[in-house]
Amino acid sequence: SMMFESLAEKMDQTVRKLRGTDKMTEANIGGALKEVRRAMLDADVNLRVVNQLIADVRERAVGQDVVAGVEPGQQFIKIIYEELTRVMGKDAAPLSTRAAGAGPTVVLLAGLQGAGKTTAAAKLALYVKSRKAEKPSAAAALEANPPPAPPAPTGPPPKVLLVACDVYRPAAVEQLQTLAGMIDVDVFTDDLSLGAVEIARRGLAVATEGKYHTVIIDTAGRQVINDKLMRELRDVKAAAKPDETLLVVDAMTGQEAANLTRAFNDDVGITGAILTKLDGDTRGGAALSVQSVSGKPIKFVGTGEKVERLEPFFPERMASRILG
Ligand code: GDP
Repeated sequence: SMMFESLAEKMDQTVRKLRGTDKMTEANIGGALKEVRRAMLDADVNLRVVNQLIADVRERAVGQDVVAGVEPGQQFIKIIYEELTRVMGKDAAPLSTRAAGAGPTVVLLAGLQGAGKTTAAAKLALYVKSRKAEKPSAAAALEANPPPAPPAPTGPPPKVLLVACDVYRPAAVEQLQTLAGMIDVDVFTDDLSLGAVEIARRGLAVATEGKYHTVIIDTAGRQVINDKLMRELRDVKAAAKPDETLLVVDAMTGQEAANLTRAFNDDVGITGAILTKLDGDTRGGAALSVQSVSGKPIKFVGTGEKVERLEPFFPERMASRILG
């Protein structure tokens, strides 16, 4: 497969050792494993995550017979891709939505300040409004027996309400309003002194009353993880009962993404993540760390500052990027 080629090329020297062998052994894959390890560390995958993955690959590969007619190097590289995509989830994970008649779908966004949370809120609003969330994923469309396409939606676009719950930064509220104006989406704001929980409650009431399709709650970010932020998030979550709690992670944070994800998942509980700034010059190792640590999928990636730059996450594509 095309996908394996760049790594295969890079690993030519080491996987060449596998030629003419009929079994993968510690001795003949050791060098190749070292190269994979280096590639993942270069991609800024968290060290513990790298070690676990290498252990998994080693366990699967050592002792495995080399399949007749298959280039052994290709067989080894295939194992690596399979382990990586296994960790990242096989298919693109769509946004969970509420059944028709069950009220608006609620999405809660969390993350550190500067991660791209407010931008992601607007991006997601546009995505839902554009009905991209209703289309079968590209991965599903590639399946041998693709599920029947849903009937083309008719009528006005889904109504989305953005709720501004960053009560500590009036500038964040303004930013959300500016972005929402660009995509013609409504924003709910209220007196910031009411606190995040009360604003979320009121926003949800407005959304239910106004028959909105989706509510996206933008919460406060901090420079660092702190107890007050986590408590507030837990409270907003308890009040809003979101269908999705998505952690917004800056792909450029590299190694730190693992600790960040662990903290948010343990303290608040997440259902997935949005990885931002993938247009930067990062190999995207954070993706692997986030999913390995939380077991939750990355649902979307941000690929630019513009509000249109949101895409579903494709594990296989990311595996290729990480391995370089
Ligand atoms: P917040 O503090 O988490 O709400 O972060 P913001 O949404 O204000 O984003 C912080 C900065 O990152 C802004 O300058 C955004 O334009 C920028 N940003 C957000 N997402 C992306 C992305 O996917 N790619 C790039 N290049 N910049 C982004």
